[in-house]
Amino acid sequence: MNSADNLKVYRDNDADLGFLEGKKIAVIGYGKQGRSQALNLRDSGVSVHVASIRDSSAEKAEQDGFSVVPIDGCVGTADIFLMLIPDEVQRDVYEKSLANDLKAGQALCFAHGYNYHFGLIKPAPEVDVFMVAPRMVGAIVRESYKKGVGAPAFVALGQDGSGHTHQTMLAVAKGIGATKAGVIETTFEQETVLDLFMEQAFFPVFSQTFFTAFDVLKEAGFDPRMLALEMYGSGEVAEIMKAAGDIGFLQQLVLLHSRTSQYGTLSRTPGAYSETTKSRMMDALENIRNGGFAKEWAEEEKAGYPVYNKLVEGIKTHPLTVAEEGLHNLIDLRH
Ligand code: NDP
Repeated sequence: MNSADNLKVYRDNDADLGFLEGKKIAVIGYGKQGRSQALNLRDSGVSVHVASIRDSSAEKAEQDGFSVVPIDGCVGTADIFLMLIPDEVQRDVYEKSLANDLKAGQALCFAHGYNYHFGLIKPAPEVDVFMVAPRMVGAIVRESYKKGVGAPAFVALGQDGSGHTHQTMLAVAKGIGATKAGVIETTFEQETVLDLFMEQAFFPVFSQTFFTAFDVLKEAGFDPRMLALEMYGSGEVAEIMKAAGDIGFLQQLVLLHSRTSQYGTLSRTPGAYSETTKSRMMDALENIRNGGFAKEWAEEEKAGYPVYNKLVEGIKTHPLTVAEEGLHNLIDLRH
């Protein structure tokens, strides 16, 4: 383990797949994360099967050679359960099919801390609870495992009924390939707050930047389709973000961009955002931490998603969407 500045980082050598020997893992939900994690664990020599409602995902799991059991009644089939169905359905599925039957010696693993952190899922204290949350989309979790590099993850201990939950957690992280890249130990709270902050404070500002730039340039007479290509359609921005992850946010600027571009960006960045942006981000953080957002989202769910549906409906007619459709008719943009 590398413990720099109190941040605990675990690599392959810190994790022992032996903790999974003789154990059965049920992957609940064979979707984006479920499929990749199930395949990686199986390739790591772990006994894995899938628990699913009888849907298209179950068929896919069977085609991939997994035995599939119904979620209802799956508690008797495994020692460790990876909760890999969408966050918003986890509570109901847990209450209906797992809550009454999970017992000491069994473990529940989350890939995101939301439901456990906000107390929507409350396993009995004797049940082990931990998190292995890949910082990568499901498809890449699989691809990077096959390449032998692994995708990094956050891990966190929720409750330790057995006394060896930490070792089990690291073994699962190793089985999916995450310790090859390195996993950082955090808490359910931090992982949840960080994830929600990115969604509710960072990406709204990021999105608004695109919308504002689009408006300014459109008002200045530029064709919207050209803007959609220039701003992100060409894939250049995606390449820049990829390079930022690989070699550094500012380093990529120096290494990959022209001097004119470096000067233009670096000289105009300070002051590009007002204090209002920072204070809005701080408000968003507070609203996440104090449970305000979780309450709002639970009420939205209960009401049948009226606001959510309206927001998503609005995407169809957004000027950017219209511009993209026009652009796709002009240029082949399959990257
Ligand atoms: P998906 O949206 O891919 O769904 C996973 C599975 O859940 C699918 O097989 C789906 O079957 C099934 N499912 C949907 N509704 C229900 C239901 N009501 N009851 C039972 N099963 C259902 O999930 P993700 O892989 O995106 O997310 C799983 C977990 O991983 C979440 O906690 C998420 O936060 C976390 N995570 C996700 C990441 C990602 O890249 N997506 C990244 C890191 C963490 P079908 O489609 O056939 O209905």
